[in-house]
Amino acid sequence: MAKVFFSSWNGKIIDERKKVAAERKDLQELKFPGQLGDRALRAFIGWAGLVVSDPDLDLVTALAVFYGKMQKESCGRCVPCRAGSKIISDRLAAILSGEGKESDLEFLVEIADLVASGSLCELGISSPKPLKDALLYFRDHFLTHISAHQSSLTKPLSTDHYETILTAPCRNGCPAHINIPGYLESIREGDYEEALAINREKTPFVGTLGRVCVHPCESNCNRQPVDQALSIRLSKRFVADFGLRNGYDQQLKKQVVKSAGERVAIIGAGPAGINAAYQLSRKGYGVTVYEALPVAGGMLAVGIPSYRLPRDILNYEIDLVCRMGVEIICNTRVGSDITIDQIWQEGFKAIFIANGLHESATMGCEGEDACYLGYMPGVEFLRRINLGQKVELGDTISVIGGGNVAMDCARSAVRLGVKEVNLIYRRTRNEMPANAAEIRAAEEEGINFHLLANPVCILEDGGVVSGMECIKMELGDPDVSGRRRPVPVDGSEFILKAESVIPAIGQVANFDFLGENSAVKLSRWGTLEVDDNTMETAAAGIFAGGDAVLGARTVIEAIATANRAAVAIDAYIRKARAAVGPAFYFERFLETAGVYNPDGVPEMVGARKRREEEVLPVSERISGFAEADLGFKGPGTAIAESERCVKCLRLGLAVLDAGRAEND
Ligand SMILES: Cc1cc2nc3c(=O)[nH]c(=O)nc-3n(C[C@H](O)[C@H](O)[C@H](O)COP(=O)(O)OP(=O)(O)OC[C@H]3O[C@@H](n4cnc5c(N)ncnc54)[C@H](O)[C@@H]3O)c2cc1C
Repeated sequence: MAKVFFSSWNGKIIDERKKVAAERKDLQELKFPGQLGDRALRAFIGWAGLVVSDPDLDLVTALAVFYGKMQKESCGRCVPCRAGSKIISDRLAAILSGEGKESDLEFLVEIADLVASGSLCELGISSPKPLKDALLYFRDHFLTHISAHQSSLTKPLSTDHYETILTAPCRNGCPAHINIPGYLESIREGDYEEALAINREKTPFVGTLGRVCVHPCESNCNRQPVDQALSIRLSKRFVADFGLRNGYDQQLKKQVVKSAGERVAIIGAGPAGINAAYQLSRKGYGVTVYEALPVAGGMLAVGIPSYRLPRDILNYEIDLVCRMGVEIICNTRVGSDITIDQIWQEGFKAIFIANGLHESATMGCEGEDACYLGYMPGVEFLRRINLGQKVELGDTISVIGGGNVAMDCARSAVRLGVKEVNLIYRRTRNEMPANAAEIRAAEEEGINFHLLANPVCILEDGGVVSGMECIKMELGDPDVSGRRRPVPVDGSEFILKAESVIPAIGQVANFDFLGENSAVKLSRWGTLEVDDNTMETAAAGIFAGGDAVLGARTVIEAIATANRAAVAIDAYIRKARAAVGPAFYFERFLETAGVYNPDGVPEMVGARKRREEEVLPVSERISGFAEADLGFKGPGTAIAESERCVKCLRLGLAVLDAGRAEND
């Protein structure tokens, strides 16, 4: 178990230097991992101080690497940051070369203070901290180099065992770690092409995410306690739409690696499958995606309604990937049209399973299995309307559920002309899992919410749905999810007239295509079991991601798993071992440790209102499936919004032992 030798992280001094190793605190108590992948963490240097685990570490060398990186990342707008990081970097190099003087140490403190007080963004404000802590607590390290009067650089400063990360609370909150401050800065400079390229490092689905992403990044925005979070999702949408209008396609550059020529098969053309195909194709692999449905896109194409995600946007982004050489074979269900064995026989070197969750969970209510006409699970209803199939609902319907799928069903039904849409949810509005904006929009569009109510029985007349018997609920003690458990109120049954009943309470997966003897294992939740970092299943060469692994989650999480899997698949093919490299472990460690401090109120000028998007009036919205939310008005709005970003950049450096070279 790795131990703390010294820590000044977040201003809390833990000095274990006089203790023997066995008595020192475990590194994990500070939420720091002992390892990043196969490599032991010797120290972490970053925005909130120093954490040293290895007593033999030479801090001066590590600090020289850290400030060299800071110098590269400094944008140059604040002179103290740009010039100061160079001065610090040069002075540390001089000390390491045997040309340092003791007076340099006081000088370094002065410069560090100057950089911290004279910089406008967090890179300059926070990065001097570890230097100041080192000068205070590890002065002997500097003096050893200074008194040696000779170069201690036996070789040039190597970056072999250092892993740096430039993060920010928003970037850390994004499961795919898109460089949000980077693209906001590009928007501010009017370089929309660069802003799009930054997004496309992680995904081709920029316009899609700009419309439907649940934007966890915004919940991490430091502006929240000051005025309002940045409109990050809409900024993303703006660059995608601008790029689409101006043909910014040339950025889909490939970064071909030595393995070019090998082929990978993917099961399912949803966001996970297509994102994995995109990243593997960029690395030079030949990729074939098998898709059961007649269209690609997964739930983006057959779940999310087109008034939220116009199909020309989605199809353009899928087409970008196809133009890179990815082959998507639709109408081909793995399991019935082709088997896994046949896929291997085709000569593929690895398989990525991303088949999502396309079957409905059951409500456990009477009449559910009776196949009454008018009973249709939510995902089936959405799939049918998205595939252009005729659906007859009648004038009055009941939708059951409080999540996004339920909102999509209810709002789609309104657009199909249903006169009365009743939405039944067993908890209160506060506990509804759907996005707040979706709930608001559903209310505006006239959907009747029956809260604290649960279905008991589907009523029928001659095999045709005629209504729903429901019961009122009240909230009891909290359940495992921490939410208060809904409990039926005896004798409170009531009846709602309904010509159609659409349950939308969750989806489940179907893994029949794996066959009975597959080495791929299922979790107790009925999802695929994988290594959380590499996304590798227990079967050699088979990886998995997206909802099939995570359960019903989000597009951005599906994309994040696909990106990890693509790196691991590349390693598996090239080095016969799935691995993701220290940079990924670094990101994941920061996900756990957290970069956003919800209790902090940063110093910044407030009262700068967030820019919102234009929205179609309700009467126009409900008259068809035209896009309801219209994005920013134009570049002026996007630039003004990006100017609200104060660049809460945080630089971190992990010093690692040599370990086993993975995917670096
Ligand atoms: C109605 C609805 C609304 C949603 N709204 C949002 C939202 O606003 N924001 C958000 O972030 N997330 C939303 N989600 C969730 C999001 O769509 C999913 O998390 C995401 O699509 C998962 O991606 P995936 O690639 O893992 O799976 P999917 O998108 O489900 O794609 C899986 C693909 O695999 C195919 N497939 C299945 N079995 C086989 C087989 N045997 N052979 C070949 N192909 C197969 C399927 O046909 C499908 O195309 C919504 C989901 C639904 C259902």
